[in-house]
Amino acid sequence: MDALSPQRSPNLSGQPGKCGADHVAPDCSGMNFYKIDRGLRDLLRLYLEPNDFRRLEPHFDRLGQLAGDRLDELARIADKHPPLLHPRDRLGRDEDWIDYHSSYREMEKVAFADFQFHAMSHRAGVLGMDRPLPAVAKYALQYLFVQAEFGLMCPISVTDTSIHLVRKFANPELKDYLLPKMLSGDVATMWKGTQFMTERAGGSDVGAIETTARLVDGEWRLYGDKWFCSHADADIALLLARPEGAAGGTKGLALFALPRRLKDGSRNAYRIVRLKDKLGTRSMASGEILLEGALAYLVGDAGAGLKQMMEQVNLSRLSHGVRASAMMRRCLNEAMVCARTRMAFGKTIIEHPLLRRQLLKIAVPTEQSLSMFLFAARTMDRANAGDKDAEALLRILTPLLKFRACRDNIPVATGAMEVRGGNGYIEEWVQARLVRDAHIGVLWEGTSNINALDIITRAVGKSGAHRRLAAALSGLLDQAATIPPPFRDRLRNTLERAVGFAEQVAAEPRLEAQARPAASGLYHITSAVLMGWEASRPGADARRALYARLALEHRLSPKDPLAANDGGRENAAAELVFSERTVSIADVVELLA
Ligand SMILES: Cc1cc2nc3c(=O)[nH]c(=O)nc-3n(C[C@H](O)[C@H](O)[C@H](O)COP(=O)(O)OP(=O)(O)OC[C@H]3O[C@@H](n4cnc5c(N)ncnc54)[C@H](O)[C@@H]3O)c2cc1C
Repeated sequence: MDALSPQRSPNLSGQPGKCGADHVAPDCSGMNFYKIDRGLRDLLRLYLEPNDFRRLEPHFDRLGQLAGDRLDELARIADKHPPLLHPRDRLGRDEDWIDYHSSYREMEKVAFADFQFHAMSHRAGVLGMDRPLPAVAKYALQYLFVQAEFGLMCPISVTDTSIHLVRKFANPELKDYLLPKMLSGDVATMWKGTQFMTERAGGSDVGAIETTARLVDGEWRLYGDKWFCSHADADIALLLARPEGAAGGTKGLALFALPRRLKDGSRNAYRIVRLKDKLGTRSMASGEILLEGALAYLVGDAGAGLKQMMEQVNLSRLSHGVRASAMMRRCLNEAMVCARTRMAFGKTIIEHPLLRRQLLKIAVPTEQSLSMFLFAARTMDRANAGDKDAEALLRILTPLLKFRACRDNIPVATGAMEVRGGNGYIEEWVQARLVRDAHIGVLWEGTSNINALDIITRAVGKSGAHRRLAAALSGLLDQAATIPPPFRDRLRNTLERAVGFAEQVAAEPRLEAQARPAASGLYHITSAVLMGWEASRPGADARRALYARLALEHRLSPKDPLAANDGGRENAAAELVFSERTVSIADVVELLA
């Protein structure tokens, strides 16, 4: 029996055969999310150094098991028991505090104490490593975790990215004060981070921020109202405010670190006014915060607040792409388990061509995002090692991943829900939560429009990063000697066209409304080239080439909706000779099945 073979989920296995329970398709509960992920296992060997892979694989495996089992169970419970705000303590003091369910607290222990996600990029000693973990490994671990729990990844990631800002921009005294607490693995005493920018006046339009900073006796005091504050009770928040007298717009914004408690242990002068009643990410607390003269520490250069904060935003964007990819994988796994088990009209539903087509519409964006995030993470590792070319490449890969993977997550989640039929709509199955959680990806850290504009106007128009991308992809195509020449030519031609289109849209302001299709074009061709290249590597699964082809044909090629299409996703006839072996759409369906 292979990894995704039908098996009864624990919650259904009690008395098979009774009450018609054996007619209900099982889910992925109890499976090891690492072991069942052929794509991830293959690609980690490719994107990680062999030594790192050997040392870290037991941890991928352990987290995969946890994610499919205990974490999944805890996530289900935490979603149904959202945090509660208590504005005052029992003595009536304005000592607000948030009450979390024990399931959330247990997940925090796994994240912050056991795996120490927040610290793994910043110091040695996490998971037995003698140096910080490579970005590829960190994001692979995030990917496994999020397949079970999405909400908590926000506090985990913002703690990680806040540490980055403090390490990079804070003065030595502030670093000495904050870093030992933030890098600790002791959940009882550590300081977790977060990041507040959005106000009622502006989310996308950051320059409209109204929070002011006043210098009183050498200390900064903040006054304002932050409208969206995820991880609202974090111990330290990085936020933007305008020092009195500073310029308007984004230029006058400075970056501050706002502690929840002051050095004497008392509460800082701000209040969590209320928590948001959210569509998704319900396990995690997002609130509104009123700053009433709260003490804050200036971080870095007062005139470079937004520029510095954008480093955090970009790291978060990459993580958001990874989270979308993780949720899509969960959707795919759930859909596959269901499709192979559920009977309709005398056969399993996967045997129906239309259903197989639906599965491939879930699988292709899922595989695209996996290649994209691993490639982006490896590029980050190169950039961190001082490679300037990689830094420029990461500049465009990050918003591409955030923009397109987060958008794809929505139809993928809906598609997976539909594969389960009516049960998919019912809250005791994970699909309903996946549908709810999927939608936040197109909002936080910039909406789709804002990310598409960042790609086209800034990364392409100002930085010329698309040229670096084209050169990098072209280099990969050169390496992929086993790709059949006609297919390679199609990839090359499409790459040229996608880059040309993005450049044209960037150059002509009248084409601004084309920024999203232009950004999507870059994403799809990048992922198609990556998957083709991956398939050509020794020992890799040649079926990734088929995903490359499907991405090329179904996401980048014109179609006549009224023409019969015998190369359709559901059709087993379309073939691609690859690596001296013929792989067909049927192989993909087999892979899925
Ligand atoms: C659950 C949740 C948690 C959040 N947590 C945080 C947090 O912890 N910290 C934080 O700082 N923020 C947080 N946010 C805020 C989030 O980042 C913003 O909501 C988001 O950036 C959009 O800003 P806005 O809501 O002001 O919408 P607006 O900026 O008003 O946008 C409204 C619409 O206009 C479009 N638009 C705006 N400008 C343009 C343009 N130039 N061209 C085309 N279209 C445009 C947008 O794409 C959007 O569709 C959170 C949001 C949610 C929902």
